[in-house]
Amino acid sequence: FVPYYEKQIDLATGDIVGFEMLARWNSPSLGVISPEIFIPIAEESGLIYVIGRWVIRDACARLAAWHRVDRTQPLGIAVNISPLQFRHPDFVACVSQALVDFSIQPGLLTLEITESSLIENIDSVVARLNELKRVGVIVSVDDFGTGYSSLYYLKHLPLDEIKIDKSYVRDILDDSNDAAIVESIIAIAKNLQLRTVAEGVETEDQARILRALGCGLHQGYLYSRPLPAAEFERLYIGKSQML
Ligand code: C2E
Ligand code: CA
Ligand code: CA
Repeated sequence: FVPYYEKQIDLATGDIVGFEMLARWNSPSLGVISPEIFIPIAEESGLIYVIGRWVIRDACARLAAWHRVDRTQPLGIAVNISPLQFRHPDFVACVSQALVDFSIQPGLLTLEITESSLIENIDSVVARLNELKRVGVIVSVDDFGTGYSSLYYLKHLPLDEIKIDKSYVRDILDDSNDAAIVESIIAIAKNLQLRTVAEGVETEDQARILRALGCGLHQGYLYSRPLPAAEFERLYIGKSQML
C-alpha cells in the first residue's frame, strides 16, 4: 500500500492546516488500485483491521518525520477509518499506541469516520467517541450529507468536525437545493461549535461560494491533487513558505 496526501488549506490565512492521507494499492500486476475498489474487499475479508492499523501508524510515523524536518509548523494529518475498523474492540488502543510510539500530539491526528460508523448501537458509539476524546484526537464526520445525516447524533455525540461531501460541492453553483443544504450544514455546525471542511473543491467559483457561506477550510484539485510521499515532501515539507 502507498499513501498519497492531499493538503487542506485555510482560505482566511492561506496556510496549509493539514493533510488527508488517501491510501492506494500498488499492485505489481494491476497497477495503482483505487481505495474505492480495495477497501470494500478488505472489509469483506477482514484485512481492513491490518490495513487500518498500518494506515494509522504510517500517518503518525510520517508526521513525526515531517516535524523533525520542520518544527515551525505543527501540521496535522487526517486518516480515513472504515466502520468495521471503528467498531473493533482494540481500535482506541491502536490509536493511542501509535501516538505514543511516534510521540505525536493527539490533537494533530484527525480520524475521519463516516455516518455509517455512527448509526449502530448509539451507546457503544458514544462510549467509543468519549474514549477517543479522552485520548485527545480530532473526530470528523466524513461524506456528511450522503448517509443518514441524523441531527440526533450531531447533538449527542462528541464530534469536532464535519466534512461536506464533494457531491454537494460539485453542484453548488448550478443546483440551488445543494447550495441551500450546504448553507444549512454550515449553520448547524457553527451553532454546535463544529468545524466544517469542504472536500472536492475544483474551481475558484466553488471556493468563493463556500467561503461566502462560512466554510473556509478546503481541499480539492483546485489546490492540489493527492500526491505520493516523495513529490509531496519535495513541495511542502521543510519550506518556510508552504503555499
Ligand atoms: P473520501 O474520504 O471522501 O476522500 C475524498 C476522495 O475524493 C479521494 O478519492 C480524493 O482523491 C478525491 N478528491 C480529492 N479532491 C477532489 C476533487 O477536487 N475532485 C474530485 N472529483 N475528487 C477529489 P480516493 O483517494 O480515490 O479515495 C476514495 C475513498 O476511499 C475516500 O473517500 C475514502 O472514503 C476511502 N479511503 C481512502 N483511503 C482510505 C484509507 O486509508 N482507509 C479507509 N478505510 N478508506 C480510505
Ligand atoms: Ca476522507
Ligand atoms: Ca467524500
